[in-house]
Amino acid sequence: MFAEVLDVERITPGLIRVRFGGGDLHEFESTEYTDQYINGYFVPPDANYPVPFDLDEVRTLGDELRPRPRRFTVRKWDEEAKKLTIDFVIHGDVGFAGPWAKRAVPGDKLQFKGPNGSYSPNPEVDWHLFAGDETAIPGISASVESLGAGSHCVVFIVVDNHEFEIPIHTDATLDLKWLHRDDSTDPSSLLLEAVRNFDFLEGTYDVFVHGEAGEVRELRKYLVGEKSLNPETSSISPYWRRNHTDEAWRKVKKEWLADQENDI
Ligand SMILES: Cc1cc2nc3c(=O)[nH]c(=O)nc-3n(C[C@H](O)[C@H](O)[C@H](O)COP(=O)(O)OP(=O)(O)OC[C@H]3O[C@@H](n4cnc5c(N)ncnc54)[C@H](O)[C@@H]3O)c2cc1C
Repeated sequence: MFAEVLDVERITPGLIRVRFGGGDLHEFESTEYTDQYINGYFVPPDANYPVPFDLDEVRTLGDELRPRPRRFTVRKWDEEAKKLTIDFVIHGDVGFAGPWAKRAVPGDKLQFKGPNGSYSPNPEVDWHLFAGDETAIPGISASVESLGAGSHCVVFIVVDNHEFEIPIHTDATLDLKWLHRDDSTDPSSLLLEAVRNFDFLEGTYDVFVHGEAGEVRELRKYLVGEKSLNPETSSISPYWRRNHTDEAWRKVKKEWLADQENDI
């Protein structure tokens, strides 16, 4: 399936919103999950084959030219207008997906598979805990937006500074805490420390924690080890790994996740 870029908006210095339409989006089957994501195939700038392409064919072109698969959350799907919105984190000029979004102009095309997903806020619990970095903002926003009056969500998001914050809308009660790396001597521990210092509310809760692998792992260790959270009924997983391209990360991810089981 492919879609065409309709417009591109820089919503913070580190986040680019791309709205897609056309292409095969009339066949897009949205899921019930608020963390649903697509697997996009990002064509390297030096490759000159058009989108859409035959995936099996272009995969044989070698590392320089083959499209790079990357997962991105569906920030919004407009069923009526058949429009898809994705928020891309800009992390310098490295990688394929981030730079693709930086270069994107109306008319560009992106091939993808999906969507798939696995989490929506559990309507049975008393409150919801969300924590993550910029890559989790789309999933957190979509999840929190889906909650109605009477729900309560507690959200921790780590960004560089206040310029990287975005409005988050919901009818639910929202306790939102932005954490700033620029103010910290140990930015990678910000999420863990914020959650550790938080007085957990009374009652049952569910958890959505996503972002950098090492940071997510530390938080998982705390929640499962010290708060007796059941990892099976929580949505906790790494979205990316520092100093690893997505290819390098996928190579070690299985082993890393298995090793994580020994944390507790
Ligand atoms: C289910 C799922 C949903 C996701 N949803 C989103 C989303 O909605 N928006 C989004 O932006 N990302 C999202 N991500 C994360 C995204 O897929 C990764 O960040 C991906 O590695 C980006 O690919 P790239 O080609 O830009 O960089 P890569 O080629 O993978 O990496 C190049 C370098 O950049 C570093 N890097 C990668 N991502 C970041 C980052 N966010 N911040 C700082 N450095 C980074 C890597 O460690 C590496 O050193 C999601 C991931 C998953 C698994």
